[in-house]
Amino acid sequence: MLLQIDWRFLLLGEEEWSFLPEVLFRSAIMFIISLVAMRAIGRRGTKQGVFELVLIVTLGSAAGDPAFYKNVGILPATLVFVAIVLMYKIVNYITARNKYLDDLVEGKYARLVKDCKFAVESCKLDDLRHDELFEDLRLKGVMHLGQVEAAYIEASGQVSVFFLPDDKVVHGLPVTPELHEAQLDEIKEKGIYSCAYCGHTKEIKPIKHHPCEICKNEKWVRSIKDIRVK
Ligand SMILES: [Zn+2]
Repeated sequence: MLLQIDWRFLLLGEEEWSFLPEVLFRSAIMFIISLVAMRAIGRRGTKQGVFELVLIVTLGSAAGDPAFYKNVGILPATLVFVAIVLMYKIVNYITARNKYLDDLVEGKYARLVKDCKFAVESCKLDDLRHDELFEDLRLKGVMHLGQVEAAYIEASGQVSVFFLPDDKVVHGLPVTPELHEAQLDEIKEKGIYSCAYCGHTKEIKPIKHHPCEICKNEKWVRSIKDIRVK
């Protein structure tokens, strides 16, 4: 049996030629909707640049659908690519020239750690889950915040870490689960403790309740001062 191709059906699927301009328009709108949605989810949820994800989402089905859905034509799918690439170029052009729009579209970095504790004043830690942050820090080789001079959540969703030299490492909040989960309400013996929430570290004498001076949290974790093993 010879392979017979219905070229019109292959190119257009079940649509008419008049549908093609509409595809461009629809694609542009879906690009904007995806962009807004990804921004709303935020970089911590998407774990990558907003732009890259929008491209993957919008182009994904356009590339896949005509490959195995009989009624989806190749031309409409190709026009989706044209529209999305154009939109991408346009938004890139505009945001490269306008800092405000760039922050609006792609997001801005947030300071995560400053001077060996979480920068609670500059980033709302409530929005950021401790377990995820700790995971990111551990993946960067951080054992406790006393090793970290500064850390940022970049617009791309990645975390960048700047370490203190070994001889400048101080006591800090451990980010390993075993140590961080051992939280204390009551300090029974004198020692150096870190606030389980913000990482504020200090010597505390035995006391029943001791709210953190920075964030008012009352749970404490024994600080550690290990240097990094390289
Ligand atoms: Zn605190």
